[in-house]
Amino acid sequence: MRRAFAGFLLAFLSLSSLLSLGAAPRKRAAHAGSGVAPADLVLRGGAVYTVDASRRWAEAVAVAGGRIVFVGPDAEVGRRIGPRTRVVDLAGRMVLPGFHDSHAHPIDGGIDSLEVDLHGLATPAEVLEKIRAYAAAHPDAAWVRGSGWELPTFPNASPTKDLLDRVVPDRPAFLWAMDGHSAWANSKALAIAGVTKDTPDPPHGRIERDAAGEPSGALREDASDLVARHLPKRTARDYSAGLAAALRIANGLGLTSLQEARASEEQLAAYAAADRNGTLTARIVASILCDTDKGVADVPRLVALRQRYHGRRLRADGVKIFADGVLETRTAAVLQPYLGFGDDRGRLNVEPDAFKALAVALDAKGFQIHVHAIGDRAIRETLDALEAARAANGARDARHHIAHLELIDPADIPRFRGLGVIANFQPFWASGDEYLLKLTEPELGPERSRWLYPIRSVRDSGAAVAFGSDWDVSSLNPLDGIEVAITHREPGKNKGPGPPWLPEERIGLPEAIAAYTIGGAYLDFTERETGSIEAGKAADLIVLDRNLFAIPSDRIHEAKVLWTLLEGREIYRAEGFSEGK
Ligand SMILES: [Zn+2]
Repeated sequence: MRRAFAGFLLAFLSLSSLLSLGAAPRKRAAHAGSGVAPADLVLRGGAVYTVDASRRWAEAVAVAGGRIVFVGPDAEVGRRIGPRTRVVDLAGRMVLPGFHDSHAHPIDGGIDSLEVDLHGLATPAEVLEKIRAYAAAHPDAAWVRGSGWELPTFPNASPTKDLLDRVVPDRPAFLWAMDGHSAWANSKALAIAGVTKDTPDPPHGRIERDAAGEPSGALREDASDLVARHLPKRTARDYSAGLAAALRIANGLGLTSLQEARASEEQLAAYAAADRNGTLTARIVASILCDTDKGVADVPRLVALRQRYHGRRLRADGVKIFADGVLETRTAAVLQPYLGFGDDRGRLNVEPDAFKALAVALDAKGFQIHVHAIGDRAIRETLDALEAARAANGARDARHHIAHLELIDPADIPRFRGLGVIANFQPFWASGDEYLLKLTEPELGPERSRWLYPIRSVRDSGAAVAFGSDWDVSSLNPLDGIEVAITHREPGKNKGPGPPWLPEERIGLPEAIAAYTIGGAYLDFTERETGSIEAGKAADLIVLDRNLFAIPSDRIHEAKVLWTLLEGREIYRAEGFSEGK
C-alpha cells in the first residue's frame, strides 16, 4: 500500500512516472498553457464523498492556496501535480468535508474535560469513586467541581448531599448533571449558599427536598444558580485553556466548524484572542446568551458584543434563547400534562408576548435567533415568535433555528419549512436509551412518544435540517450522531434482537452526513465557502480510515478520523497516518 509521507519524494516519483510515459510532457505543457497551476496538495485513490448537490463521488482532490481547485477522477488529477506538490495516496480511504457541529458548548466542554468528568459512568459507586479520586489528587482546590453525572444513575434522578459528603466532607462540592439542567451539591456547598429548608424555590427552578423539607442535594434549573453563583470565578486563562482543549478534541473528530450555543462575553473574548493569535483551528459562529428576563432591553448589549467580537474565523451573529427546560425533570413546556403529575405542563422561560417582542427586535437587528426548545408547547411558542418576527419585519434570509426539538406536535412540523426555520437536531439522543425509555416515555405515554425526535418527518416535510452534539451534554463525535440517526440504537450497546426505537423516524446515511456537513454550513451562512467538496471552496477536508457506505451501520462509531485539514492546513493527524499503516 503506497502512502505518501514524504510528499516531495512521491511528487518526484509521480513526475518521473509521468515523464516515463513519453506523452506526458506534451500534455503538461498543453495544460500549463491553458493556465493550470500545480497544486500544493493532491489526495488521490480515495473514496471522496463530495456532498455536492448531486452527491457525486470522486477519487481525487487538489488543493492550492487553501482552496479546492479540482475534484474528479485520479486519471485527471495528474496535471495538477508539480515538483513541489505533496501527493497523498489514500488507498481507498474515505474523504469527507470537515464536519459542522450546529450546537455545542466547546469552551464549557473543554473546561469540563479538565475537571471532575463524570461522563459515561454507570453506577453511583463509580461516580463517587471518581469524585473521591479527584478530590484526593487536588487537595488545594477550594471547591471540588465538575459535571457529567447522568440522571438515571440515581433514584428519582436525585443524588443526595449525604452521598457527596461521604467523599468530600471537608470542602464544598458542586457537580452539574450531564444535561446542565440539574446540579448536585454537598452540605458545605449548600451552607455557603445559605440554602436551607426555608429557602423558597426560585421562579424557574426547584430545590429537591427530603421528607423533612430539608434540601436533599439535587437542584433543578435556576435553583442550581443559588449555589453556582458562589463558585470561584473563572479566569481568562481558564477559558483559553478550555478552548484549547476543546479544539484539540474537536479537530481530532474531524470538526472544522462549530456553533457555540451559549456564548458569554468571557467566552467570546477567549475565541477572539485565539482568532487573533492564529490558534483558532475551527470556524466559530457564536450565539450570544440573551438575558430573557430583560428581554428587548438586552438587545443593545447584544448588538455591541456582535460588533466587538468579529474576526477572521469568529462571528457572533447569533442570539441564544432558552424557551424551556428538559423533559426528564418536567421542566420542558408541554401541551398536555405530564402523566401522573396532575396538571403539570412544565414551564416556559419566556412568556409568549415577551418572546414575540424579543424575536421581532432581534430579527430587525439582523440577528440569527437560536432557540433551545424541547417540549411541544415551547416549540410551538418559538414558531409563533419567529412567525411574528417575519410578519413584523418581512421575510428575509434569516435562518433562525430551533435546537433539540425533542417532542414536536405533528401539526407544527410543516411550519419549519413554511417559516424557513432550520431544524437543529441532536441525533445522538434518539437511541432508545434509558433517558427515553425510563424517564421520558412514561411521562408522555405511547401516543405522544411517537413524536419524540421526528427527524425523518421534519426532513420529509422539506425543512432544512442540521445536526449538532450539544457537547458536553453528549458525545462530540459526529460519527456517533450519524450512527444513531440511521440506526436508532445506542452505539455499541442495545443492538437487538428487538426492533430499533421508533424505526420510522430513522434517516439514511447520505441525509445524516449532509446534516453534519452542508446542512451545518447552511445554518452558519457559510455554504458557499465550506460544507462540501467542490472546486472553489475552502479545503476543509477530513480523511476517515474506512468508507462509511461500505460497513454495517452499527459499526460507524468505530470509524476513525485520520487527518483533518482546515483551509488546506493540517490541524489534526492521527498517529501512524503518515506512515501508511
Ligand atoms: Zn446546549
